[in-house]
Amino acid sequence: PLPVEEADKIVLNLEALYDHPDSELEHVAKLARSIQQRRGDYNGRILSIRADDLYTLAVIYSTTPSGLVEKLEDYGVLVHDLQAFFADSGE
Ligand code: C2E
Ligand code: C2E
Ligand code: C2E
Repeated sequence: PLPVEEADKIVLNLEALYDHPDSELEHVAKLARSIQQRRGDYNGRILSIRADDLYTLAVIYSTTPSGLVEKLEDYGVLVHDLQAFFADSGE
């Protein structure tokens, strides 16, 4: 499996993730909620996740970490440009 480029931090758009109607994203949403709980990070609109957790999720989805990133990309639940993300939402 390809290593995930270390420069690319995986940042989830929580609103897009939790509001997504597709049950395909169920496991990602479940992990994100669990991480929020463990960090006590409840108010964020985004969540940075560990490369390790991405790897584990990829196993669950029977793909590679980069394959999962592509899938998340297609579903529109990743944030790439934090500055633009916060600027667009008027913060
Ligand atoms: P831990 O792994 O022993 O980490 C203790 C604290 O070290 C974390 O407290 C956090 O403040 C800091 N820390 C560890 N790794 C990183 C990192 O890569 N980046 C940053 N910015 N800080 C880091 P926190 O956030 O309150 O988390 C408490 C515990 O909850 C963690 O203990 C870990 O067991 C679990 N946890 C939190 N987030 C995650 C996650 O994304 N994935 C996993 N697998 N566990 C997590
Ligand atoms: P960054 O990692 O590029 O994050 C930019 C902003 O995105 C953060 O601004 C925060 O508003 C949001 N953000 C990113 N990841 C998360 C997340 O998992 N949960 C939540 N709730 N928000 C998130 P902020 O907090 O002002 O931090 C600015 C920069 O300061 C961060 O840029 C990072 O480079 C650094 N930083 C802040 N806290 C930590 C930390 O605990 N560990 C490390 N290593 N860097 C930190
Ligand atoms: P970050 O805080 O900018 O950390 C970038 C990378 O530095 C992490 O990638 C990890 O390889 C390393 N690192 C940072 N702090 C620690 C630490 O306390 N212990 C160890 N062993 N390594 C550390 P990674 O794991 O892929 O995490 C990506 C991002 O996810 C982190 O970026 C941070 O924003 C978030 N994150 C990961 N784990 C935690 C955590 O336990 N608590 C919180 N609050 N955020 C976390």
